[in-house]
Amino acid sequence: MIRVAVATFFVESGGVKLAVHERGHRDAPTILLVHGYPDTSATWDAVAEELASRFHVVTYDVRGAGESDRPRRKAAYKLVVLAADIRTVADAVSPHAPVHLVGHDWGSVQCWEAVTDPETQSRFASFTTISGPAIDHAAAWMHARRNLKGLPALLRQGMRSWYLALMQIPGFVPLMWRTWMTKTFAPTIRRVEGLPERDGWPAPTLAKDGARGVLLYRANVLSGMRSPRERRTTVPVQVVVPTGDRYISPKLATSDLAQWTDRLWVRRVNAGHWVQQKSPDGLAHAITDLVRHVEGEPESRALRRHRIKGAEVADRKDFTNQLVVVTGAGSGIGRETALAFGRLGAEVVIAELKADAGEQTAADLRAGGTTAHAYQVDVSDLASMEEFAKRVIADHGVPDIVVNNAGIGIAGRFLDTTAADWQRIVDINLLGVVHGCRLFGAAMAERLEGGYIVNVASAAAFTPSRMLSAYSATKAAVLSLSESIGAEFRDYGIGVSAICPGLVNTPITTSTHYVGVSADEEREAGLKMRKRYERRNYPPSKVADAIVKAVRDRKPVVPVTIEARGARFMSRLSPAFMRRLARVEVK
Ligand code: NAD
Repeated sequence: MIRVAVATFFVESGGVKLAVHERGHRDAPTILLVHGYPDTSATWDAVAEELASRFHVVTYDVRGAGESDRPRRKAAYKLVVLAADIRTVADAVSPHAPVHLVGHDWGSVQCWEAVTDPETQSRFASFTTISGPAIDHAAAWMHARRNLKGLPALLRQGMRSWYLALMQIPGFVPLMWRTWMTKTFAPTIRRVEGLPERDGWPAPTLAKDGARGVLLYRANVLSGMRSPRERRTTVPVQVVVPTGDRYISPKLATSDLAQWTDRLWVRRVNAGHWVQQKSPDGLAHAITDLVRHVEGEPESRALRRHRIKGAEVADRKDFTNQLVVVTGAGSGIGRETALAFGRLGAEVVIAELKADAGEQTAADLRAGGTTAHAYQVDVSDLASMEEFAKRVIADHGVPDIVVNNAGIGIAGRFLDTTAADWQRIVDINLLGVVHGCRLFGAAMAERLEGGYIVNVASAAAFTPSRMLSAYSATKAAVLSLSESIGAEFRDYGIGVSAICPGLVNTPITTSTHYVGVSADEEREAGLKMRKRYERRNYPPSKVADAIVKAVRDRKPVVPVTIEARGARFMSRLSPAFMRRLARVEVK
């Protein structure tokens, strides 16, 4: 990991010394990260590293934590005092320009206090809040749900807030930290939230931070809940909502929020409470998106997708503001899939071996008003796929949907199929799909916002045939791969579908390689096959519709065409029948 230089100094706020850490260049926009309980500024280290290449990044230990002073009086932890600390730090590190605030947990609660203060909100350019609603907003939310209809939401939040009662018992929580909690805290949180080990977190001051930080709760929660104030802000707010948060329900974090803000984005992420530990890169990305936009860049596609309130929300189609990658989109099913997602509002990226064919699909998409990009890619070539994934992510962002469609046919006897034939078909039909899943799946998982992967298999996956051993084997592997990674990718909110079409009228009939025959015989076999498929006349556009529906309905396995559905049914009802059918030699 590249280590960015960190300058540490102290500022004084109301007689309390606060330890401030500064990274990046002072001329760049300033991002001020405020930590929660029982953390210190160290919780931000990985996020700050990531942001520091582009921004001036500042963290500090809030009063009571880390290297900062630890006043003993409860009154020293009132929200107004904490908000004044934020302003003091902001004034020290960015005296002439407003700062972009990011708050987690109690850090976010403090930031809300600062950004909803009419006197000082102009000091803040934007606010990204994670798992820490304004106490006044939370109280208003609860008051509004003190009825039969609101009861379930209240109970759900109540079950997450059990610890608040313990915090109110004088001396209880400090005793816990002094006895067993300091040792068990990190291993427990890591296990429960699936967090990696990171240097420096939690800080060595954890016992003291936990014991003293309890005053945050005791000074603010009960009083704030009793009589909520109307707290609005003109500062643009992005809410990062960890859907697996054990302490703050997504409903509490987001419902009713639009009434308190002028501009609002809500970004759901697949993580628990400590998002900054789970995926610093993903969080840094979300923060960067908002900061860049507020600093004058056009709203990114991701931000547009998450926008709740602000500028006009255009008439949204199903896949508006989604980025869809389709491999093999120069022809047949891939081309129709690209066109279908384009019609539904998506931005489309085409990966195609035949550059002209890929460009043609992109041109047709553009003619229909879709933003489209074509890349020449060989899905079977790892380096080509790695370069492609890198460029897509850098130029257009992490895709929301990836359709691994590119594939080829090989037909004929197994004993006529050479090792080179096998290598080629495995490289394209199986490893091409593997590369797509791995490269884009990893980026989707890191981004934390989920996504969708569609792998185009075939009815051949469950229809054994003496004429299609190589093709069927690769397609059965793609089906199995899809079901296996579907189980794993679920953890990241990434859906996976395997599409299994039957006979679809596309140019694959004539491009299929027929083994064990002369060139003339191969041409003839291709023409025969084409005629058969033409008679069947199932258009690729219908497979494209099935792919779109699979994504919408999150369907894991989708046989398309009546013969595919029949084969799937029979393969379960009578595998012996399917084996007999496999003996038929189609000429
Ligand atoms: P197609 O030949 O019309 O389209 C395939 C596209 O993939 C072509 O544009 C081709 O240039 C591209 N391609 C091939 N190798 C590539 C590579 N290495 N890198 C990048 N692009 C590459 O065929 P289709 O019928 O539309 O097939 C699409 C997918 O559907 C394939 O995976 C195929 O196995 C599967 N499928 C087709 C049928 C059918 O009956 N047509 C049935 C079941 C499954």
